[in-house]
Amino acid sequence: TVSFGIDKALEVLGVKDINEGTSTGSNNFGSGDLIESRSPVDGQLIAQVKTTTKADYNQVLETATSAFKNWRLVPAPQRGEIVRQFAEKLREKKEALGKLVSYEMGKSYQEGLGEVQEMIDICDFAVGLSRQLHGLTMHSERPGHRMYEQYHPLGVVGIISAFNFPVAVWSWNTALAWVCGDVCIWKPSEKTPLCGIACQNIAAEVFKANNLPEGISCLVNGDYQVGEFITKDKRIPLVSATGSIRMGKIVAQEVAARLGKSLLELGGNNAIIVTPDADIKMTVIGAVFGAVGTAGQRCTSTRRLIIHESIYDKVKTAIVDAYKQLRIGNPLDETNHVGPLIDTDAVKNYQNALVKVVEEGGNIVVEGGVLTGEGYESACYVKPAIAEAQPEFEIVQHETFAPVLYLLKYSGDVENAIDIQNSVVQGLSSAIMTNNLREAERFLSVAGSDCGIANVNIGTSGAEIGGAFGGEKETGGGRESGSDAWKVYMRRQTNTINYTTELPLAQGIKFDL
Ligand code: NAD
Repeated sequence: TVSFGIDKALEVLGVKDINEGTSTGSNNFGSGDLIESRSPVDGQLIAQVKTTTKADYNQVLETATSAFKNWRLVPAPQRGEIVRQFAEKLREKKEALGKLVSYEMGKSYQEGLGEVQEMIDICDFAVGLSRQLHGLTMHSERPGHRMYEQYHPLGVVGIISAFNFPVAVWSWNTALAWVCGDVCIWKPSEKTPLCGIACQNIAAEVFKANNLPEGISCLVNGDYQVGEFITKDKRIPLVSATGSIRMGKIVAQEVAARLGKSLLELGGNNAIIVTPDADIKMTVIGAVFGAVGTAGQRCTSTRRLIIHESIYDKVKTAIVDAYKQLRIGNPLDETNHVGPLIDTDAVKNYQNALVKVVEEGGNIVVEGGVLTGEGYESACYVKPAIAEAQPEFEIVQHETFAPVLYLLKYSGDVENAIDIQNSVVQGLSSAIMTNNLREAERFLSVAGSDCGIANVNIGTSGAEIGGAFGGEKETGGGRESGSDAWKVYMRRQTNTINYTTELPLAQGIKFDL
C-alpha cells in the first residue's frame, strides 16, 4: 500500500519546487526552455524542468572531465564503497522514488518499487565487481618477459535513456561505470525528467558526503537535440543509448562517424512459442503478464504468441478468458492490472496498429479501445487487445509499444515456430513453453532462437540483473547489467615487461647498434 501521497514523495526527492525553474541539487540543470512533466495517470502537470543549452552542456562536460581526473585515481574497491552508500540511499528513498516512477511514467506502484529494487540490485552487483575488474596474464614468448592485460576506465560515459524504465536503465549503466572509474552524463527521456532529477539528487548527496566532485554524476535535460550534444561529442568515448530502433540507427551513425563506441539497447518484438507439450496454465500467466504488464511498454513485452495448431483454440480461449478479468485504471491503485500509456501519441500508435492489422487481414479477438470518463481523464488508458494475424504482416513485424498481442499459428515441428520467431528484424527476448526436452534444447541450440535472451518455461518479460541484458540484430547488440557487461565501460591494455638486460626484437630481427 502507498503510505504517502505524491507531494510528499516529490518533497523527499527534492523535486518539489522546480516549477520556478530553480536549480536543484548541486548540479546545473540548465537555463534553456522549460519542458513539462505531465502525469499519464491523471493528466496533471507535475512540474516544469529547464532544459540544457549548448553552453550549459559545455560547462557540465568540463565538470565531468575534471571529476574524471580525480575519480579514476580512487581505488576501485573504494569506488565500490561509494556505490554501496548510493544503494543505501536508494533503500531509504525506495518508496518515494517508486511512487514518482509510477506517477510520472504510469507503471504500477509495485513495478515502480521493482524498478528501484533493480537499481539496488545492480549496485550490490557492482560493489562485488569493484574487486573483480580483472584481466588475464599470458606467457610471453620471450625469455625474461612478463605479459598481462589490464582494464582502465574510459572517461566520460554518455547515457541516453527511454521513458519506460526512467530510473533503472540509468543505474544499470552508472553503477558499473562508476566502479570502473568512469564518470557519467545522463540525458533521461524528456517524458520523465523528474525521475532524472530525483536520481541525480540522491547521487549528488552521496558524492558530497564523501567530499567527491559532483561531476562524477551529471544530468542534462531536453529532447533529441540535447542527446545530439552527447552523440556528436568527441570527448565522450562511450554512448549508451536505450530507446527505439529509429533513434538507435541515428545514434549509431553519429557515434561511429567519430569512431566512438556505442552500447545500444533498442526495440524488441518478443515471442513466446507454445508447443503441444506446453503447460497451458503457465503459458497463460506468462503471456498475459508479458503482454499487458506496464501496459505493453516494456522492451521485453510479449508481442507475439506462436502457437501449435493442435492446441491453438485451447490456448486462445484461455487467454481471451484471462483478458476478461483485467482491471484497467490508476496504477497507484494496486487492484488494477493495467495502467495508462505514456501519452496520447502512444495512444494513436496503438489505435493505428489495430486498424492496420485488420487492413492486412487480421482478426480481432479481444477488442481494443480508448477509455473515457471518470478516472481516465488523461486520455491515455487503453484496453489490451488481441488479434489473430499472419507472421509476415507488416504490423506484426513492427514493435507497437502498447498492449497489442498477436496470435500466430504454426504446424509441424518446433523448427517452423523458431523460423517464425526469428523472422523479424528485432532480436531481444524470446521464450518457449514446453515440457519436451528435445524442443527446449532445439530452441536454445545454435539453430534455435536468435535473440539475446532465450527462456524456457518463463515468459519474455523482464530479466535478472545477474545476466548480461540486451539483444541482437536491430535491437542493437549491446549488453548491460551482469556477467561481463562491465568490460564495455573500460579500455583494455596489454602490457609486456622485460626484466632482463637484453632486448630481443620481435620476429628474430637483428639490429646491431
Ligand atoms: P525514443 O527512441 O523515442 O527515445 C529514447 C531516448 O533517445 C530519449 O531520451 C530521446 O530524447 C533520445 N533520442 C531520440 N532521438 C535521438 C537522437 N537523434 N539523438 C540522440 N538522442 C535521441 O524511445 P522511447 O519512446 O523513450 O522508448 C521506447 C523504446 O525504447 C522502445 O522501442 C523500447 O523497446 C526501447 N527500449 C529498449 C530497451 C532495451 O534494453 N533494449 C529498454 C527500454 C526501452
